[in-house]
Amino acid sequence: MKELTCIICPRGCHLVVDDELNVSGNTCPRGAVYAKQELTHPTRTLTTTVRIVSEKEVSLPVKSDKPLPKEKIFDAMALINKTSVKAPIKIGDVVIKNIFGLDVNIVATKDVSR
Ligand code: SF4
Repeated sequence: MKELTCIICPRGCHLVVDDELNVSGNTCPRGAVYAKQELTHPTRTLTTTVRIVSEKEVSLPVKSDKPLPKEKIFDAMALINKTSVKAPIKIGDVVIKNIFGLDVNIVATKDVSR
């Protein structure tokens, strides 16, 4: 049996999962989906910054456009830390395409005009 807190919404339900992946304690179905995924294939949306060559900014906020497998987060951060982009950049521009072949892009979350 495992216990975890649902992070899908601010309610934070206390979830209990048995050995057959039956979930209890969830107020809505999303909690059961989350608990099963967390125990079988945990993922996270990555939010961070990359360096930018710009007149105004030194870093550009970025995020993964889909959740990444949790075990790839550290490698993704290492790659992002080596990455630099050049202004202009628009929200949604792809900074790293198809990272590690996972069908996940790292995209800008801010406009930087120059
Ligand atoms: S189980 Fe549903 S209501 Fe409870 S925290 Fe998760 S998403 Fe929110």
